[in-house]
Amino acid sequence: MHYESGVGHIGGNLSALDILLCLYHKILQKDDAFILSKGHAAGALYIALWSVGVLSEADLVQFHREDTLLSGHPPVSGIPEVLFGTGSLGHGLSLAAGLALGKKLKGQPGRVFCMLSDGEWNEGSNWEALIFANQQNLDNLTIVVDLNGLQGFGTTREVADLGVLGEKLRTFGFNTEEINGHDPPAIIRALETQAAQPNAIVANTTKGNGISFMENRLEWHYLPLNEALYQQALQELTRL
Ligand SMILES: [Mg+2]
Repeated sequence: MHYESGVGHIGGNLSALDILLCLYHKILQKDDAFILSKGHAAGALYIALWSVGVLSEADLVQFHREDTLLSGHPPVSGIPEVLFGTGSLGHGLSLAAGLALGKKLKGQPGRVFCMLSDGEWNEGSNWEALIFANQQNLDNLTIVVDLNGLQGFGTTREVADLGVLGEKLRTFGFNTEEINGHDPPAIIRALETQAAQPNAIVANTTKGNGISFMENRLEWHYLPLNEALYQQALQELTRL
């Protein structure tokens, strides 16, 4: 999809993909909601939605084309499973916390999940949302952080060091688990966990996971694939 449409953001899609597949195949029920706060991983989200039959192959071909539903960031409307247009970073968690509070006030069942990037914690709105979620004891909220250690313009440590994010989330009142974000049984176990307080999963991931020349390489935040690299990537994935 990314190759044929000539767009980047591949690295951050590959770090998020295993988590999104586990979420859609093993966790989400009809009363649940999911918000992809790191909207630049829309490609991985569309693949997850395709893999559970929500989108078709014909839909995927339209990725990032003119007048498409499948824009480079999740669309504001048109796909029922996509509740909000996201990608302007730092907003998804506040939206998720509001949804979770709404469910509690109305006595509605279901959980709310939100996936964030690690670079996204540069945004103060996320820390406000943590305070709010703790204050309201949103035990129906689970946040997943795709901790790949890189963001658009450098390592997260160079840009604005998060320290040990899991410790900070615990301090903010979240039941927090640290896992390998490319280990499906561990991902599913962590997503199933629902404590009597807001829940957080810090998923240690690899940007560009699965493609040797992309892994942990900053430039694959933005670069599109040329034909030679596309063929090499396909070969590597086929060998798996
Ligand atoms: Mg990152």
